Amino acid sequence: MISADVAVLGAGIVGVSTALHLQARGREVVLIDRHGAAGLETSYGNAGIIERASFMPYFFPRDLKKLALYALNQLPEANYHVSALSSIAPWLWRYFLESAPERAQRHAASLRPLVERCVIEHEALMETSHASDLLRRTGWIKAYRSEASFAASAVEVERLRAFGLNIDILDEAALAEREPHLYGVRGAVHYLDPVSVDDPSRLAQAYATLFVQRGGLFLTGDARSLQEAPDGRWAVATHDDEVFARDLVVALGPWSDVITRELGYDFPMAVKRGYHMHYAPREGAKLMRPVQDVDNGYVLAPMTRGVRLTTGAEFAHRDAPPTPVQIDRAEPFARQLFPLGERVEAKPWMGARPCLPDMLPIIGKAPKHERLWFNFGHQHHGLTLGPVTGRLLAELMTGEKPFTDPAPYSAERF
Ligand SMILES: Cc1cc2nc3c(=O)[nH]c(=O)nc-3n(C[C@H](O)[C@H](O)[C@H](O)COP(=O)(O)OP(=O)(O)OC[C@H]3O[C@@H](n4cnc5c(N)ncnc54)[C@H](O)[C@@H]3O)c2cc1C
Repeated sequence: MISADVAVLGAGIVGVSTALHLQARGREVVLIDRHGAAGLETSYGNAGIIERASFMPYFFPRDLKKLALYALNQLPEANYHVSALSSIAPWLWRYFLESAPERAQRHAASLRPLVERCVIEHEALMETSHASDLLRRTGWIKAYRSEASFAASAVEVERLRAFGLNIDILDEAALAEREPHLYGVRGAVHYLDPVSVDDPSRLAQAYATLFVQRGGLFLTGDARSLQEAPDGRWAVATHDDEVFARDLVVALGPWSDVITRELGYDFPMAVKRGYHMHYAPREGAKLMRPVQDVDNGYVLAPMTRGVRLTTGAEFAHRDAPPTPVQIDRAEPFARQLFPLGERVEAKPWMGARPCLPDMLPIIGKAPKHERLWFNFGHQHHGLTLGPVTGRLLAELMTGEKPFTDPAPYSAERF
């Protein structure tokens, strides 16, 4: 039998960061994942951007022309399973309501304190876990293929500059100096404050290694074995032994609701699935930073395995078989943008962004249980927000003054 102060369920970037922050505050922590290593699910396959400029989450589009195109299911940036529509429609409706301009502004303001600290918190963990070599301080670029969309980006740029962000507007010549191998771009916006990593999974693993080096236990086990023991502690069966912990953190990303539902919570959680594929760059071609093809809705990011193409959102059941049509739709555009060679993998990777309808995570105490805590629902920005939300939850759990008001992330809002 293993006793601990806290058991953290889930070793994605969110769970690992939470475990580290609790450990730094003197708690004996056991980290439990069904895989024997950290960062092998959603935290494996993202675009690697620590998005310091993403003050506005991805809300439901309200542009009718765009919606009509989405309905036709032909664009690279979004896809949906017709068979899933009736069951996800209530969630989509809530997402639509929460995306109304006034509410969206409120949610964006709530997200901002987290985004503002995202790079600082990663840097601190990268330094102590000797993972700073993964970090690229080259910002990221939004590339526009049409004059019209480039012109329209000015509004967003001005809004973000008001928050003190460093942003360069690039014409074709200026872009060519920073990214010599991009083609067919009419103009670009270079966000200089974000940073990126060339292997998000290795980053989570470096953080998990630090956790173990500092005396933490990382065990393999299935969270679905969770029980409330007669003495009031939480019990989880692992491959090594049964773990008994006073406090429990659910950080299972898109699988969090598997456990919360069992515990009597009905959170409106859905997933936006996404895919990636790596390509060998053609000889001599190099990408210096992640680049979003805004008009065609995908991102190209330089990674250790090659150039990673990541797709936009797919609305489907989390566990439905993969349908990577967005990779096939985006690939011809990506080949025009950058000299991509062969596909590296036989089939695309798939992940699922865990989303609440207001695009804010749930961080904090469970409403109906003592000593049960949540940290999940990080939507498109879990890599960005893992360490900072880990810190916030650890502060709440240890009675420290939280660095920001946690009310907007409370589970009570549902
Ligand atoms: C295509 C794509 C691109 C993205 N790009 C970016 C980006 O550039 N920047 C950014 O910030 N974010 C990005 N994201 C979002 C980001 O990847 C996620 O928000 C983040 O990885 C979520 O982390 P997590 O720790 O909550 O979940 P996960 O990484 O999924 O971790 C959950 C963990 O729980 C474990 N688990 C699940 N069920 C059980 C069980 N029953 N028992 C034990 N363990 C279990 C899993 O094994 C897993 O390790 C992207 C996502 C996608 C899909």
